[in-house]
Amino acid sequence: MEENPTAGLIDETSDIEIDYDEDGNPIAPPKKKEIDPLPPIDHSLIKYQSFEKNFYTPHNEISSLTVDKVIQLRKTLGLRVNGADLPYPVTSFAHFNFDDALMKIIRKSDYVQPTPIQSQAVPAALAGRDIIGIAKTGSGKTLAFVWPMLVHIMDQPELKEGDGPVGLILAPTRELSQQIYAEAKKFGKIYNLRVVCCYGGGSKWEQSKALEGGAEIIVGTPGRVIDLVKMSATNLTRVTFLVLDEADRMFNMGFEPQVRSICDHVRPDRQTLLFSATFKKKVEKLARDILTDPIRIVQGDIGEANTDVTQIMLVMPQSDKCQWLLDNLVQFTSTGSILVFVTKKLDAEQLASTLTVKEYEVLLLHGDMDQAERNKVITKFKKQEVNIMVATDVAARGLDIAHIRTVVNYDIARDIDTHTHRIGRTGRAGEKGTAFTLVTPKDYEFAGHLVRSLEGVGQEVPKPLLDLAMQSSWFRKSRFKGGKGKSVTA
Ligand code: ADP
Ligand code: MG
Repeated sequence: MEENPTAGLIDETSDIEIDYDEDGNPIAPPKKKEIDPLPPIDHSLIKYQSFEKNFYTPHNEISSLTVDKVIQLRKTLGLRVNGADLPYPVTSFAHFNFDDALMKIIRKSDYVQPTPIQSQAVPAALAGRDIIGIAKTGSGKTLAFVWPMLVHIMDQPELKEGDGPVGLILAPTRELSQQIYAEAKKFGKIYNLRVVCCYGGGSKWEQSKALEGGAEIIVGTPGRVIDLVKMSATNLTRVTFLVLDEADRMFNMGFEPQVRSICDHVRPDRQTLLFSATFKKKVEKLARDILTDPIRIVQGDIGEANTDVTQIMLVMPQSDKCQWLLDNLVQFTSTGSILVFVTKKLDAEQLASTLTVKEYEVLLLHGDMDQAERNKVITKFKKQEVNIMVATDVAARGLDIAHIRTVVNYDIARDIDTHTHRIGRTGRAGEKGTAFTLVTPKDYEFAGHLVRSLEGVGQEVPKPLLDLAMQSSWFRKSRFKGGKGKSVTA
């Protein structure tokens, strides 16, 4: 195949806006062709071999940088990075510590230095970390995952008869799969790695034939990969390095169920890298579901990468909540309507009456009201006759009101999906919104989910919240496993 990967590929129209139903859930666009996802799998029944993820030792020139220098460097490279235990970006190919064979072919490619996304993503990937990479087309994302994948694969035992690939790359289209294939093949050749490209429309028979001899790397579209697994032309048991390229396009094309089923089929302790040119709600949700403590790297000026809802999380004692709300209510109502979530009906009534006593006009919405009553309340809120509403979760389902500027989670939600659903009541129709979450010391078990929710969208995690989260053992255990790099947030 010719080395002209980006030619004719930039398809601006593919980045269609995603629609949401009245509950704020994304509506799946029409599917191209129905391919049943893979059936669920019980990983506890499979005996997986242990494997190494971390191959990174920062180069002296990089580990000796001061924190200020690192912040400056990220700025120069147009990088915004979030996550725990971040490795520093690098400035030269030599800093990757690749072996001679790989360095030689990189030099032959006439590349002068790593592109900005490569300079941050390659160290993170070599360190074994899950990655969300968001950067424009043409920024060099392919090699940012191909190079670390080669290092990863070369550390693994050789394939045995009947083994499936170690590296699996999913891409939305045939053209893109072929481009990635060409890059993977070009660099994989130095280690005699076999790469097979599997896309819909191509001959299934030929592709399964190609897989027969074994392939360390499969690049393909989700539907075809599923087909080939179903016909036992390959299997995903040995996959430990999983890449989703152009995740947003795969979703726009309706591949979400297929993509998810493939991810569910691969051993949970794999390394997963997700690349996308945009980061809208669907992709954000997927990232939360399939990645573990990811490093999120945004390169360049990508507006869509910023979510429309700014989340502010405040740790305070239960007894301070009411005063905090009273102190801020005037300011909140001056920018638009405010929706306050309270978990229990009784507490909602209590809070509404407290606010009423303080001479605020307040609406109350909960599940025990009949439909007519609810409609009356919602209409008043919609028409902005009253711009403060206290509600329980059940009652607030389906509210789509553009002028809600502020959501207050007076009580934390019962789970993270409910939390996401709540904060999705603001920031609608392109308007910016702010969501406050009041966290009390006894919410430490949930705090970790909130930390991840912030990290997933690249928002700063306040120290009190992180400290609180660290009190829960599940969160502490899932944190900082592996990863030798130093940590700097810029
Ligand atoms: P993206 O996936 O971000 O759209 P690609 O991975 O397709 O971008 O890369 C775009 C082009 O940049 C390709 O032609 C690729 O060979 C080239 N490229 C990749 N890395 C470098 C580098 N470090 N220096 C110069 N060119 C590079
Ligand atoms: Mg690409």
